[in-house]
Amino acid sequence: MDTLFQYLVPATIIIAVILGFHGAPLIVWTVGIAAALVGFKVPGSVLIGFGVVAVVFNLKPIRSMFVSSIVMKIMKALNIVPSISETERTALDAGVVWAEAELFSGKPDFKKLMNEPYPELTPEEKAFIDGPVDRVCQMIDDWAIFKNREIPENIWDFLKKEKFLGMIIPKEYGGLGFSALCHSQVIMKLSSRSMPVSITVMVPNSLGPAELLNHYGTKEQKEHYLPRLACGEEIPCFALTEPGAGSDAGAMTSEGTVFKGSDGKLHMRLNWNKRYITLASISTILGLAFKLRDPENLLGRGPDLGITCALIPTKTEGVVVGRRHDPMGVPFHNCPTQGKNVVISVDQIIGGVTNAGRGWKMLMECLAAGRGISLPAQSTGGIKLAARVTSVHATIRKQFGINIGKFEGIEIPLARIAGFAYLTESFRRYTLGALDKGIKPPVVTAICKYHSTELGRRCINDALDILAGNGISQGPRNLLGHGYLASPIGITVEGANIMTRTLIIFGQGALRAHPYAYAEVNALEKGDLKAFDVAFWGHMGHIFRNGVRSIILSISRGWLAASPFTGRVAKYYRRLAWTSASFAIMSDIAMGSLGGKLKMKEKITGRFADILSWMYIATSILRRFKAEGSRKEDLPFVHFTMNHCFLEIQRAFDGIFNNLDVPGLSWLFRGPIRWWANLNSIAGEDNDSHTHKIATLMMSDTEQRDRLTEGIFIPKDPNEALGRLEEAFKVTKRAEHADDKIRKAVRQKLIPKIKGPELIKIALEKGIINTDEQRDLIRSEELRWQAVQVDDFSEAEFHGGVSTPNKSKTDWTTSTKQAAKVI
Ligand SMILES: Cc1cc2nc3c(=O)[nH]c(=O)nc-3n(C[C@H](O)[C@H](O)[C@H](O)COP(=O)(O)OP(=O)(O)OC[C@H]3O[C@@H](n4cnc5c(N)ncnc54)[C@H](O)[C@@H]3O)c2cc1C
Repeated sequence: MDTLFQYLVPATIIIAVILGFHGAPLIVWTVGIAAALVGFKVPGSVLIGFGVVAVVFNLKPIRSMFVSSIVMKIMKALNIVPSISETERTALDAGVVWAEAELFSGKPDFKKLMNEPYPELTPEEKAFIDGPVDRVCQMIDDWAIFKNREIPENIWDFLKKEKFLGMIIPKEYGGLGFSALCHSQVIMKLSSRSMPVSITVMVPNSLGPAELLNHYGTKEQKEHYLPRLACGEEIPCFALTEPGAGSDAGAMTSEGTVFKGSDGKLHMRLNWNKRYITLASISTILGLAFKLRDPENLLGRGPDLGITCALIPTKTEGVVVGRRHDPMGVPFHNCPTQGKNVVISVDQIIGGVTNAGRGWKMLMECLAAGRGISLPAQSTGGIKLAARVTSVHATIRKQFGINIGKFEGIEIPLARIAGFAYLTESFRRYTLGALDKGIKPPVVTAICKYHSTELGRRCINDALDILAGNGISQGPRNLLGHGYLASPIGITVEGANIMTRTLIIFGQGALRAHPYAYAEVNALEKGDLKAFDVAFWGHMGHIFRNGVRSIILSISRGWLAASPFTGRVAKYYRRLAWTSASFAIMSDIAMGSLGGKLKMKEKITGRFADILSWMYIATSILRRFKAEGSRKEDLPFVHFTMNHCFLEIQRAFDGIFNNLDVPGLSWLFRGPIRWWANLNSIAGEDNDSHTHKIATLMMSDTEQRDRLTEGIFIPKDPNEALGRLEEAFKVTKRAEHADDKIRKAVRQKLIPKIKGPELIKIALEKGIINTDEQRDLIRSEELRWQAVQVDDFSEAEFHGGVSTPNKSKTDWTTSTKQAAKVI
């Protein structure tokens, strides 16, 4: 008997843990428990009792009738499930779930996630990027655009001629028919050159007339409008936002009424008051979202049809356009528009009268995809530019006798910008792979929009800190000042960020990406017992499995999870598996304890959104590393960014443990679990050696640095601000060895401790450097000097006159002669 217990008890526990960890089906548990009961020689009455329970739970019709029906009633009575409005349901149903469902499962299939595409451009698309996109970038003078507050005519003409405004319009309608990746690459490159131009190109290619016509337009509408939109003959805008309806766009008051005209045909009389509408003042065709009423039931679908989208030529009587807002001084057209008793045919509804009242669905479906393209592209372009500019500045700017990039204090923000450039590119491209496969995942695209714009804002702040006076002095030499001004715009548009984090990512994610929650909600709403039974018991098994996985993976720090790959990054797959299990179980605990109230607990949902987001971002980093050949030299970026992801995840878990109200169990989360989580945290603070390696790489003239900033516009002309910086960087790197030799000689007291051209001359005379090295050093010092200058203006120029900044900068030699001193 003793021997039996000695082996049987531990064996039973181990088998139970293995079954729980792998989520064995109920029938396997039933057989296993029966075997254990027999092994333990329990009395026959216990075996019979177990048999009854086993039959009830394994036979679905019996389980439904005797158990699930009662559970269903209790859940309804306790109002555990959130109520979902019609507009919310439409938003939830827009698009599909994708990678986020794996991460939500608690047991992600990494092989599947790593087999998702990491896309490349086609040769034709590449030719467009290297051709027309490069050419327009060369033509752009961003400083002049800001000063004149207009994009010049020649840029407009070029954009129209090369069909920049028709990138998403299929070729059969005269557009470019580009992939999401190419569309994104174009925006990314333009953003690195000029925000106003990139926004101007972005808008006709995102949610608006062309996109809506592509998907829902009638044949006649497509044939009429798309070719005109593709070549810029028609300039579109799309008006959704109102003074009283911003984030809550469904609250719009713009309305239309169907009536029969004297010609016997059906028309709509429209009234609207919209604001923040990009391109409205110069638009020729206005896409309008409004609530359609049909009081006489002329369309035969009742009096209130709901949100509808129609196309209105702006020359129609009653349409008011022409005034402009001033979005942070960034000179693109952003405008109010009003419509007063504007009469158009019902045939102007996008998709015709059958689409009357389907506007919200159309908008949500298109937004699901669009959010993953324009703003992530714009932010990634901005971050890459910041990485390029700051790494040059850190290399060429000297203070206290050395390049500022050598100061540890500078290494931190520099590495952060470069790390975030690696990271945003990873999730930008990974998401575009899904979009180009025809998948429209609204949760993932919301993650992309939110994090790319937030990281962009953080990087531009870091960049300005590194550039200091060079960053805040506006003028043609300043490459980042305009990006700084524009950064709040991306935060606000296409779903303002606070709401995107707290309401959309987890609010939608919890219901859509959770394997059972949405099915349960739907079954409860419809009173479908059969569907509820399947979803509810599936959910119970899911909770049990994830509970076991979470404990086991936490104790083993993820080591008991399988990794599809070996090597230096295998640990990250394991840690992600651990995170996913803990996230899944904590989501269920939050949903179970807060029920319908969870939606309003935005401090909690925001933290869950962070965990889901950083898991997704971490997955995309691993995908990028694999797609780029798992190069050893990229490891510092992978280590730094993966640690950042896990650190954010750890912070979010801490916040949840500390603040989640679980009836009767809050003490457990605030006390022992939080204590354990701190003791056994998923990640710690950044490793200084990683930031050092990244900063050093960024300040080296290598292929890797080019790869990190690939896709932005880098002018070759040394008279341009970025071209000048690039030249200074290259020559400085070339002269570095000679510079080191001189420093060494100074330390050995072979030459005096002075600075400027005199020092170089003495070093040559003493044979410490040769004439080639002397030439490089002098050129390098000249270029450094030029590159760190800022613009200045006369009073007249400053107050808005001709604003050509002072070009007569002192040169390095005269300046250092003036300031020469013994250091
Ligand atoms: C430059 C620019 C261009 C634009 N272009 C267009 C365009 O072409 N067409 C168009 O129709 N619109 C356009 N917009 C409008 C844009 O989509 C709205 O600004 C956006 O929807 C937010 O609305 P709002 O500014 O009124 O902010 P509000 O809705 O008033 O939001 C204020 C704050 O409250 C937060 N918030 C709101 N609800 C919640 C919630 N439930 N939970 C938590 N936080 C919440 C928001 O995140 C935000 O931080 C543009 C805006 C700008 C600034």
